[in-house]
Amino acid sequence: MVKFKFYGAAGTVTGSMHRVDLKEFSFLVDAGYFQGTFYPLNEEPLKELRDVPYLFLTHAHLDHIGRLPLLVKNGFRGQIVTHRATWEIGRYILEDAYHLMDEDNPLYSLEDLQRTFSLPAKFVQCGETYHIGDLKFTVKDAGHILGSAFYEYDYRGFRFTFSGDLGNKNKPIVRDPQLPSPTSVVISESTYGNRDHRPFHKSVEELKEAIFSTLPHGKVLIPAFALERAQELLYIFKTWENEGIWPENWKVVLDSPLASKILSEFLKFPECYDAEAYRRFQRENPFKVRNLRITRTKAESKQLNSVSKGVVIVAGSGMLTGGRAIHHLKHMIEDPRHALIFVGYQAKGTLGREIVDGADKVWIHGRFYDVNLKVYTINGFSSHADRSELLEWIDAASPSTVVLVHGEEEERESLREALNGRGYGDVRLPELYQELAF
Ligand SMILES: [Zn+2]
Repeated sequence: MVKFKFYGAAGTVTGSMHRVDLKEFSFLVDAGYFQGTFYPLNEEPLKELRDVPYLFLTHAHLDHIGRLPLLVKNGFRGQIVTHRATWEIGRYILEDAYHLMDEDNPLYSLEDLQRTFSLPAKFVQCGETYHIGDLKFTVKDAGHILGSAFYEYDYRGFRFTFSGDLGNKNKPIVRDPQLPSPTSVVISESTYGNRDHRPFHKSVEELKEAIFSTLPHGKVLIPAFALERAQELLYIFKTWENEGIWPENWKVVLDSPLASKILSEFLKFPECYDAEAYRRFQRENPFKVRNLRITRTKAESKQLNSVSKGVVIVAGSGMLTGGRAIHHLKHMIEDPRHALIFVGYQAKGTLGREIVDGADKVWIHGRFYDVNLKVYTINGFSSHADRSELLEWIDAASPSTVVLVHGEEEERESLREALNGRGYGDVRLPELYQELAF
């Protein structure tokens, strides 16, 4: 018998963490963080996981690795199984999360964080198969962000596959997600279970138009997530430079210390690139657009206030919840010559969402500002598989049971209906801490 327990599966509780119990040993897949209003759930006792000997990590997003130092705080000393890129990028992500934590009520100490990175780690490669006792597992490319993987397990002939987060096809840098082999049970993400994305190439065209129509007379601010989106934007600008359409005097400023650190990791793992990015990497730095400036200090960042046009500023945070993007926004927001371009998801309750929803006045750091700059919302940059891609991926696995995790309730329900309609009779939507046995 194989038993599954879900420590972050249901609805808006988005931190992904799942336990698998085999006869001889248990293992975890991911250790994601609960965010926003679900933050207190991180404090649920994790002591029952202290003796689990293995933790497989699918990728370095906080909702897949954020609870790792908490596990360590609760006594976990198991071995990490992951791609080296995930582990190295994950260190920057967790350090950043530690510094952003509520100082008066920290979930874990600096010591817990440091101890996390002295855990033993086994690095795995996409396309390879490994064994731990009677457990065989194959690692495949999830095509979501650099280093992202999904795992196909075979325990004495019983096969089950964890999707992690699956990528959106035709994105630059990363490969398209690989398809799974046939299996009995699929535990799949369902983030975009209810909708399809706009085609990526159309979104790149929209981005081009927004930037090219603004820079002759103004500046562009793009709030971007530090992992993948920021690097992807640089890659796209470099593509335009190679095509000969990027004017010589235009500048790009990467104003995010976290994104800069992660950028240096991207250059270490060309084996994770798709064919196009790899080809480019062999002859150039595919992220180094002409006149790229990577700011180090806040003072360097503030110098940009005096520049009035011809600059694209890529800065965090991605939803304008803090970071250097806010400071640029304050200087640009009331001037109609400038533009603000959203290329990422804006969650409810964030300043980013308020502006996307059309607010004409916003409150920032103690006063109201008029939203006079031009606002663009470009939706096709998602790093997630959309509904059609999720269905295609699950079809390739043709499982007898599908377990949907990691989506909001509406998305999970909608994907379940679609799966039922395609003949999948056994689709489960586990609740938090629910157990399933096969
Ligand atoms: Zn992710």
